[in-house]
Amino acid sequence: MIESRDDIYLEVTDLKQWLYCPRVVYYRFCLPKIRPVTYSMEAGDRSHETVSEQEEHRSLRTYGLDEGERVFHVAVASAKLRLSGRIDMVIRQPDEAYIVDFKLSEHEAKSNLKIQLGAYAMLLEESWQIPVRKGFIYHIEQRKAEVISITPQIRKATRDTITTIFQFLLGERMPNPPANLGKCVACEFRRFCNDVV
Ligand code: SF4
Repeated sequence: MIESRDDIYLEVTDLKQWLYCPRVVYYRFCLPKIRPVTYSMEAGDRSHETVSEQEEHRSLRTYGLDEGERVFHVAVASAKLRLSGRIDMVIRQPDEAYIVDFKLSEHEAKSNLKIQLGAYAMLLEESWQIPVRKGFIYHIEQRKAEVISITPQIRKATRDTITTIFQFLLGERMPNPPANLGKCVACEFRRFCNDVV
C-alpha cells in the first residue's frame, strides 16, 4: 500500500507509459500483483545492444559533433524527483553532455518521447552536475539522429507529468482510459478495465 511519496520511485519509462495510457502505471504501483513484467520488450533490448556495439565505430558527425566521449547504459537517479532511469548513451564533452536514446520507431518524436528525454536530461544534470541542452533520438532502422532541444517547456512538461502521476498514485485514484480506445484492443490489461469496450 502506498502511504507516502517515499513509497514511490518512478522510472523514466513510467512517464512515457503514463502519456500513452496512465492506467498501466496505476496498475504497476497500486495493483503490482497483476503486472509481473516490465514495459521493455526483449526484441527491443536486443536491438539496443546491437546498435550500442555499432555505435562505438560510428563517427560523432551523425550527431553534428566533432568530439566527445561516448558512455553507454548510464544509470541515473534523483531522490528529489523520486525518479530513476538508464540512458542508452551519453556523449560527454568538457562543459556539456548530450543524451542519446536508441529507438526502433521511424516516426519523429512526439511529446511522450520528448518528455522521456527531458527526464533523462534533468537526471543526468543532477547526477553528473553538467548542463544538458540537447538530446538525440537515434532511429535505428533509418540510421538517423533526430535532434531534440531540451527546452524550458519540455522541462516543465516533465515536472508536471511527475507531479500528476504522484497525485494519482498517492490518492490511489484510477485514471481515465486514453482518449483513443484503439489502444485498448491489444492491451494485456483489458480484462481489468471493465469500462472500455
Ligand atoms: S485496456 Fe485500455 S485503459 Fe486499460 S490499461 Fe489497457 S490501454 Fe489502458
